[in-house]
Amino acid sequence: MSESNVIAFPEPCYFGDCSKCRRNDDYLNVGAEHWYICHKHKVKWCVGVNVFSRWRSEDERLWAKNSVLLSTYQTVVPYDSFMAFDERRELAVTHSDG
Ligand SMILES: [Zn+2]
Repeated sequence: MSESNVIAFPEPCYFGDCSKCRRNDDYLNVGAEHWYICHKHKVKWCVGVNVFSRWRSEDERLWAKNSVLLSTYQTVVPYDSFMAFDERRELAVTHSDG
């Protein structure tokens, strides 16, 4: 197996990816809120509150810093996230009713 030569989109992230580059730069916490981001396109999307535990080991100084950075990023609907899956499931439920 030589996967090093293959240039492909990475596995889609469960929490969604930037709709432009289909990547993300991990997430930042503001308190217990988790924001996935793409630095290149300056976009963000919130994936929930207290889903991950990393925020517990962070402090208010970091959250303030994250908050300032996030305020310059645009909130977007991520590409193919679990949120999109939920939407599809809702549609399926609506149409299978009967
Ligand atoms: Zn991007």
